[in-house]
Amino acid sequence: MNAQAAAAAVHKDDSQLRQKRMIADHFTRLAHSPETGQKNVYTFVPGNLTELLLSFDLLPVLPEINALQSGMRGKSKEYIAVAEKLGHSEDVCTYVKCDLGMMKSGNTGPTGEHLPNPDLLLLSYTGCFTFLKWFEILKQEYDCPVAMLHVPYQGDGQITDSMRAYVVGQLREKVIPALEKLSGKSYDEDRLKELLARSARAEDDLVWVLQSAKHRPSPIDAYFGGVYYIGPIFTAFRGTEDAVEYYRELRAEVEERMAAGLCALTPEGDMAGERFRIVVEGPPNWTSFRAFWKMFSDEGAVVVASTYTKVGGVYDSGFRHDPDRPLESLAEYCMGCYTNLNLPSRVDMLTRYMREYSADGLLINSVKSCNSFSAGQLMILREVENRTGKPGGFVESDLVDPRYFSAANIKNRLESYFQMIEQKRQGSAA
Ligand code: SF4
Repeated sequence: MNAQAAAAAVHKDDSQLRQKRMIADHFTRLAHSPETGQKNVYTFVPGNLTELLLSFDLLPVLPEINALQSGMRGKSKEYIAVAEKLGHSEDVCTYVKCDLGMMKSGNTGPTGEHLPNPDLLLLSYTGCFTFLKWFEILKQEYDCPVAMLHVPYQGDGQITDSMRAYVVGQLREKVIPALEKLSGKSYDEDRLKELLARSARAEDDLVWVLQSAKHRPSPIDAYFGGVYYIGPIFTAFRGTEDAVEYYRELRAEVEERMAAGLCALTPEGDMAGERFRIVVEGPPNWTSFRAFWKMFSDEGAVVVASTYTKVGGVYDSGFRHDPDRPLESLAEYCMGCYTNLNLPSRVDMLTRYMREYSADGLLINSVKSCNSFSAGQLMILREVENRTGKPGGFVESDLVDPRYFSAANIKNRLESYFQMIEQKRQGSAA
């Protein structure tokens, strides 16, 4: 390892260690909340209101993140089995069953500490009806209030003034009063503005990191690596000083990688060379996450852009949380998350990624659980192929149900797909 690479490795550890500490501290606060009296709010990633919760000193709990962590830790199989024994069908989203099974098995969170029961279920779901059903189930299990924010779908591909006013009205009349009641504190708009200003700073650096993949070779993998980079901003930390620092450090690390001409970082170290630049649509599989990543990196394939890293906010299109328009910008944030976009907008976004990131192809990982992503994916694939002339590939798996990750089958398909790209490339060079 040369001096620059060594320096980059040290910096990498800085941001990773910071994220690890942030997560550990958060779950410790949650575990001790019955003694400290700090209240929590269970809520979801797309369309989350983290800054608003933090302005009331409330602790967010994100069941999807707990489910994906259970998948990565090899616990989801047993949790899903618990939920299916209780009668939940094989067709139900596996995040829901994993969460339910975890709850029925003692509600131990990703760091091994106990998760408190919800003090409030804040249903601010975006683009997916399953979220509503998920909290209906939790409501039956826990005796706690529910607050709902209904976020209109971008059916016509835009956010209108009346849509914005509708969401802001609900924030003022439903959500904020529920948070005031739970916390015993009054809404403090100045505090919310401070948090939103910090969010925007962190969002600037996150966008810089994601867009570094336009460089050749890409210093990052924007899908497998990207899921770590979006962690703090998509979860409980947007608006915190820790998140600002995390993204500042991360950006500095990626700047060093780029200056040193390094290829994307993988769990095995720096990729030896970059052969294929791929855009990926759809969430990853979490139960075989490392194995799935290795199928790409072994072939010299780097993901230069992905839609999954926009599920908790599409910041690279220019959106920032805005302290001068606090509730309006929270409303726009909720309506702008990826799965709240209609299919033509998704096609436009993917076509733009293919061009801006000089990609060789679009690969779809279609997960069985999630209609929010999977509906329309074959149409998306064909349309992007037509517009860009680049080959599309299609693999199928699931989020956290290991029964739907067939390693041999997926590896086979990926190898064929990369061969097809290579042949097309040779054909056009001839
Ligand atoms: S179906 Fe998809 S968007 Fe809906 S809860 Fe499950 S994973 Fe989330």
